[in-house]
Amino acid sequence: MARVRLVAGNWKMHGSRASNAALLDVLVKENPPGCAVCVPFPYLAQAAERLRGSRIAWGAQNVSEHAQGAYTGEVSAAMAAEFGCRYVIVGHSERRTIFAESDEVAAQKYVAARKAGLTPIFCVGETLEERDRGVTEAVLARQVDALVGKYGAQGLDGGIVAYEPVWAIGTGRTATSKQADEAQAFIRARIAAADPAVAADLRILYGGSVKAGNAAELFAMPNVDGGLVGGASLVAKDFAAIWRAAVSAL
Ligand code: PEP
Repeated sequence: MARVRLVAGNWKMHGSRASNAALLDVLVKENPPGCAVCVPFPYLAQAAERLRGSRIAWGAQNVSEHAQGAYTGEVSAAMAAEFGCRYVIVGHSERRTIFAESDEVAAQKYVAARKAGLTPIFCVGETLEERDRGVTEAVLARQVDALVGKYGAQGLDGGIVAYEPVWAIGTGRTATSKQADEAQAFIRARIAAADPAVAADLRILYGGSVKAGNAAELFAMPNVDGGLVGGASLVAKDFAAIWRAAVSAL
């Protein structure tokens, strides 16, 4: 049975105060349950101001793995929490590839976010080359183990994992619902080996070209507990259609 529990938007480095205001106004008007937007740091105050009192949560797209110190240009999880963030994306493939963040750093960021009281959305996923080589499960295992192997599965209690095949992000090429469900079942089983109760309760989102037209089919899968939506979260009517698909899958 599907159990969609969160549709989160990843705005990446898009937006302006004016375009955000229009998008946030639509969000507040629709006020869907189980919805969050992860905005660029400078817009956290704007998101907090517009969304406070609504059902929509907001979050950041990255945090430092360090709690504080001389890390020019970095933002700590505690700072994000001060702006009312509930969520933060960690280990996104763009951070891993463009900014060379290792599995270890992604795991450290997860832990730093938890310590600050945030709910991290821990992203994992294989590249197309890895899928074609048949090593998808090995890659997912390595990324999950960097967190669970080092810090234990308990840290995932109440946490969120997002399966985001790199080849599907921003490409318009979505994983089939079967591919998403299989990968997400594998992730859940890997975590269940460490802690079955945590794994059973874990929210595992799918991300990678989720659109209004494919959301319902993805959200109907037993291991797909919601979506992490990039491009479509920047277009109010598209994002709204995705929440509606999520709400009807509840
Ligand atoms: C993402 O950036 O996390 C993402 C899933 O993007 P898109 O929906 O555009 O593929």
